[in-house]
Amino acid sequence: MTSLRGRPGARSTIPRTHVVIIGAGLMGAAVGRELKRRRPDLAVTLLERAIPGAEASAAAAGILGAQAEPEGPGPLLDLALASRSRWSAFARALLQETGVDVGYRACGVLEVAFTDDAVQRLATRAHWMRLAGLAHHTLDRQEARQRQADVAAMVRGALWLPDDGAVDPRVLVPTVVAAARAAGVAVRSGCIVAGLEVGEGRVRAVQLDGPDGSCECVQADHVVVAAGAWTDLVPGLPACRTPVTPVRGQLARLRPPRPVTDCVLKAGAHYLVPRADGTLIVGATTEHVGWQRGVTDAGLAHLLAGACSLVPALADATVLEHWSGLRPHAGDGLPLLGPHAGIAGLHLASGLYRNGILLAPIAAEIVAAGVLGTAPPLADPAWLPGPASGLVQRRKTA
Ligand SMILES: Cc1cc2nc3c(=O)[nH]c(=O)nc-3n(C[C@H](O)[C@H](O)[C@H](O)COP(=O)(O)OP(=O)(O)OC[C@H]3O[C@@H](n4cnc5c(N)ncnc54)[C@H](O)[C@@H]3O)c2cc1C
Repeated sequence: MTSLRGRPGARSTIPRTHVVIIGAGLMGAAVGRELKRRRPDLAVTLLERAIPGAEASAAAAGILGAQAEPEGPGPLLDLALASRSRWSAFARALLQETGVDVGYRACGVLEVAFTDDAVQRLATRAHWMRLAGLAHHTLDRQEARQRQADVAAMVRGALWLPDDGAVDPRVLVPTVVAAARAAGVAVRSGCIVAGLEVGEGRVRAVQLDGPDGSCECVQADHVVVAAGAWTDLVPGLPACRTPVTPVRGQLARLRPPRPVTDCVLKAGAHYLVPRADGTLIVGATTEHVGWQRGVTDAGLAHLLAGACSLVPALADATVLEHWSGLRPHAGDGLPLLGPHAGIAGLHLASGLYRNGILLAPIAAEIVAAGVLGTAPPLADPAWLPGPASGLVQRRKTA
């Protein structure tokens, strides 16, 4: 064997490990940024078929509802609390890396109840939050209106969650993409992933179809699938723990006649999120309509009725915008995060459903740790992509 050491002009040609991420939504960009922050020597490529960040991530309301969203203790609450505790540092780091303030605010969420049943549901939620030692305040009708004077007079009670917050995804998502670029991630748009190449049980490459009919094969040591609602459509992706399907959500932006809330207001599926410019985001519908991305009159009527029942003064608001997005819904309600058990080098960062904005910091850390082979900050088999260990076992022994 000939040693290269000391030979004039000789250069080491050890190829850099190449990580390819499919999908440049918030998840793909956050994972790419995290990988380059930890290991600047990695080559990381983010492949996007259309415009980076233009799908579910840009459509979101931006509630950071770590307590407001989970139904009770369990893996989702664990992830949500861990992510919320990272949000302040995440926003500060993005400011340093890009000069952009993404407008993170721990403004609190006020969950309000208008019926006896809803009061009972809030009491149940307060109970598990008390057991979990989480900050919360149960408010009676008068206290709820003292907290937010414009809440409808027929309010029966409320739950105040002071540690939850909000961020504006329209500022956040391009900022995370910019931070990924600044860290050295190569972002390529117009790349439709046409297949995954697997050999001897590990991922080898990603095949691309160009818009002009051209084909390209991108060698990869690791592939992270972060394709949102389209995850199951990535050609060649093997079975995961659970399918990911699209769930449409419609939102509207209003200009209220005057400021009506300084925190997130929520009643059941309806919510209001104040933005720094004085406008108000009204959400959201939950519709199982496949890949239909359009907005509907019925959807807008539903949003406005919900908004006015929460805050009657909004009857005089102006509707500025109405849009929709497709949430990536995992069948069992938990995201798919980390290495796939069946194929070495394949990782999932998907199924974030209603909480992808909230969960971005912790999800990015978990997935990056899986790629780098380091210990994740939080581990639970419940959110591993699978497939179920029984399936892998059967396949191995077949
Ligand atoms: C109406 C609505 C309100 C929401 N509100 C909140 C909220 O208040 N708080 C919260 O935390 N979360 C909220 N969410 C959820 C959050 O938006 C999502 O969980 C999150 O944005 C998912 O991010 P993602 O990167 O996985 O998906 P996406 O942002 O959808 O990105 C996936 C990307 O992959 C690309 N892609 C797909 N297939 C391929 C392929 N084959 N090749 C190349 N590229 C591909 C797509 O073009 C897309 O850019 C909301 C979602 C919606 C729709």
